[in-house]
Amino acid sequence: MEDCLFCKIIAGEIPSAKVFENEDVYAFRDINPVAPVHVLIVPKKHLQSTEELTGKDDVLLGKMFEAARIVAKQEGVSGKGYRLVFNTGAEAGQTVPHLHMHLIAGKTLSWGA
Ligand code: 5GP
Ligand code: ZN
Repeated sequence: MEDCLFCKIIAGEIPSAKVFENEDVYAFRDINPVAPVHVLIVPKKHLQSTEELTGKDDVLLGKMFEAARIVAKQEGVSGKGYRLVFNTGAEAGQTVPHLHMHLIAGKTLSWGA
């Protein structure tokens, strides 16, 4: 996708603080963290949001969650607690139209909408 911010980050055209990468997934620190640990886990394949997922993406989703487990261990929060969030669409607060999972941790998190 030509004008996608996260596609440009994945391609290295825009710098990012990478924490994990494999063939299918790229993970980097959120530029505006809401907690001491805030990592974005994105598929290299461009999908706009969870609404574009189909059964064909089951393996990809599994790889995103696998990346989350690896990042949680790397960041020292595995076993302590972390939150995994997908914002889907404007009312949910999605601002970047490239599928991404937030990994948020490092403090006691409050819950609310
Ligand atoms: P959303 O609001 O779409 O669920 O999450 C998008 C996230 O991307 C936000 O938390 C925002 O801080 C982060 N973000 C936006 N632009 C950049 C950027 O250029 N670099 C990085 N590392 N994060 C970004
Ligand atoms: Zn993209």
